[in-house]
Order: sequence, then C-alpha cells, then structure tokens
Amino acid sequence: MDCFCTYCNTKLEGRADKKFCTPYCKSSYHYQKSREKEQNLFQKIDGQLKTNRRVLKNFNKAGLATVRKERLLKKRLQKEGFEVVFCI
Ligand SMILES: [Zn+2]
Repeated sequence: MDCFCTYCNTKLEGRADKKFCTPYCKSSYHYQKSREKEQNLFQKIDGQLKTNRRVLKNFNKAGLATVRKERLLKKRLQKEGFEVVFCI
C-alpha cells in the first residue's frame, strides 16, 4: 500500500508508519495546525500586551514621552480591557 505525505501529498518511501516526507513538511504541517487553532484568552491577552509594549517602546525612545491618545490608538494599542500605566 502506498503512503503519502500528510502535508504535501508526495509518495513516501521508508518506514511504514512515516507521515511526512521531510522535516520541513512535518514542521510546516504542525505550524499550520497551530495557526488554525483558535487562540485562547491567555494567548489573546498576551498578544495584545506584546503589541502594546512594542507600540509604547517605539514612542518612548528617549525615556520620557508624551503621546496623544489618537496616535496610540492608530498604532492598534488597545485601551479597552487593559489599564495602561506609565511608571518612569
Ligand atoms: Zn511532504
């Protein structure tokens, strides 16, 4: 019986229980599966906090900065559900 790669559908040679033709296909398959899974609440919050930190870091290069709220919101800084506190 012929077996085919789970990711790219190439005919497999070797062990009977082999699922992928190359480590690249295996890695790509699992990466794609993880991207398809719906994010849980922790991942959503963590992702938003990382975005917020990155945006704030870009505006605060000199150590002290005043930035208009509209500019922060344009950069996708989320204000609802998270309290942003500045401590300098
Ligand atoms: Zn493959």
